[in-house]
Amino acid sequence: MAGGNRGSKILPMPTPSATARIAVLPEVVRNQIAAGEVIERPASVVKELLENALDAGATRIQIDLEEGGVKLVRITDDGTGMGAEDVALAFVSHATSKLCVPEDLEHIASLGFRGEALASMGSIARCSLYSRLPELELGWRIENEGGRLSDVREAGGPKGTILEVRDIFFNTPARRRFLKRTSTELARCLDIVQRTALAHSGVGFVATHDGRRLFEVEPDMDFRARIRRTFGAELSEALVEVDAVDGDTRVFGFVAPPRFSRRDTARQMWFLNGRSLRDKVLSRVLREGYRGFLVEGRQPVVFLQLALDPAKVDVNVHPSKSEVRFRDQRRLFGFLVNALRESVRKTDMATPGESMLHSMWRREGGEDVRQGVLPNPGPLPAGEAEAVVVREVPGQPFEIPRPAPPSSGAHAAGRTDGVAPGARLADAREAWEARDELRGPFLQVARTYLVRALPDGFEIIDQHALHERMTFELLRRDVRAGQVETQRYLVPELVEVSKADALLLSGHFEALGRIGIDLAVLGATTIAVSGLPARLKNPDAEGVVRDLIEILARTGHPPDAEDVIEEVLHSAACRSSIMAGDELTEDEIRTLLERARELETDQTCPHARPTRVRFSLADLEKAFHRR
Ligand code: ADP
Ligand code: MG
Repeated sequence: MAGGNRGSKILPMPTPSATARIAVLPEVVRNQIAAGEVIERPASVVKELLENALDAGATRIQIDLEEGGVKLVRITDDGTGMGAEDVALAFVSHATSKLCVPEDLEHIASLGFRGEALASMGSIARCSLYSRLPELELGWRIENEGGRLSDVREAGGPKGTILEVRDIFFNTPARRRFLKRTSTELARCLDIVQRTALAHSGVGFVATHDGRRLFEVEPDMDFRARIRRTFGAELSEALVEVDAVDGDTRVFGFVAPPRFSRRDTARQMWFLNGRSLRDKVLSRVLREGYRGFLVEGRQPVVFLQLALDPAKVDVNVHPSKSEVRFRDQRRLFGFLVNALRESVRKTDMATPGESMLHSMWRREGGEDVRQGVLPNPGPLPAGEAEAVVVREVPGQPFEIPRPAPPSSGAHAAGRTDGVAPGARLADAREAWEARDELRGPFLQVARTYLVRALPDGFEIIDQHALHERMTFELLRRDVRAGQVETQRYLVPELVEVSKADALLLSGHFEALGRIGIDLAVLGATTIAVSGLPARLKNPDAEGVVRDLIEILARTGHPPDAEDVIEEVLHSAACRSSIMAGDELTEDEIRTLLERARELETDQTCPHARPTRVRFSLADLEKAFHRR
């Protein structure tokens, strides 16, 4: 090959064989290199083939896997199919029916467009493609074994397309070695199938492994029904809907209450015009949307679909097409955060005693029975495009009915009408609170927990957590309104710090003054605290200063940045609230509970630990094995 292309007539070279080192690579090697980016493992094959089937307008797609997809991935669709010429071209690299002219790249509406997937697969596996146009009696077949293409032959079969990819990496042993255990590869394949199925109402999916059916959704199932089928009733019933429009941009989907949060992002799903994606801007949207409702390090559970004019986003950023670039990022960000936050607030933030009992049983049993039949493949390496969720199919093997809500009249009706379950929960909470008049008796246990009876059960309140949430919210309200009352000290409290820290703080005195914290430097290493927000009950000046230094150093943001303000207020509230250990009178307890009701949320402290746990009669009955 080198000899053929070189020794050019235009630039004669003295001794080609001695000096020529650059050669244009043979096509099969080029494709194998491209495959390195597009095809990482069987799950990538599944992803690309599903995209092709969807682009072909399929309404039923079957996915058959063997040995975790390593031995076989077969995808059968009932889409438009291909004629003989297209079958002959499908495995050629950069051959696509989805783009024509360069401008097409500016508004990609299909899932595929690179014309690289089939060529890549053909170069690293034994592939076979069968396809039949609906108007013809017979279809066509072609094989591609590691880059060796067969002739196109006529073949009988259903209309639509069947693509088989066998023995992935059979001719690239180095890549094959990176494959994981069968169960891990299978879990990843299944994750792709489930994600894809979630976003494509109107299309039915069936997935099998070694002949066993693993997952199925019918074409007419809507988004929520698909979530329920994939993740079970408990989660799907707790979801609150998001639906907002800004011009021709729409976000639609569901957010879960904070208690469903997890350490991983496996149940964070964004879809952009039907494409599952992972994006930094969207991750930030989630952080902002759930700010103050989640414990540090926890990831919210959301299922969100974005519908956007294809011209407003560039999907041609990464070979796997799971990253994108938005053209008007700022506006989109603001719009999404607002839409999300509104729905997150409507989720049921209460920590039900039921869920505690639940996790106690789970711990006793040793493993989470709801995890499904396949072993958990463990955490994915950072930066990996897809996360993994495996569930047994169909439905929920382990399901605890929610206790009947207290206002049973209104709610019996609520169960059968079309009201979203999230809305029902919010109603239930309101009805509950309207009937509950905060009468005593209140019981204080270990000077830390408050116990009180409810119309249907009882609740345990962490007095410190609740007071902290209250102080924090009131402070934040003051700051937003620009009227923080500062309590000034006759004798400033002095805090010794390092020179560097004093310098760091002194750069921000003015901004800190605006949130009620009055500081000055005395000497090089002494900070004088001369005032703190009057809302703080037992202000801990030293603690506030130390936290401030830590927050400013860590975030690198000025104190008037929204996230720093929130953190500073959290820490101030935490250090200056009623403590665990403070004795409270009945009156103090009642006042605390009454004022807590006015908050945006009083169900978690600012660090999102629960402030109260509620036990219903149903929980008690379960605990005492009465039911
Ligand atoms: P791309 O999807 O980026 O165009 P692919 O390599 O995945 O590239 O596919 C090449 C072409 O083969 C597609 O553009 C499409 O015309 C055709 N094709 C592939 N899969 C199917 C299918 N399941 N049904 C109909 N046509 C298909
Ligand atoms: Mg494709």
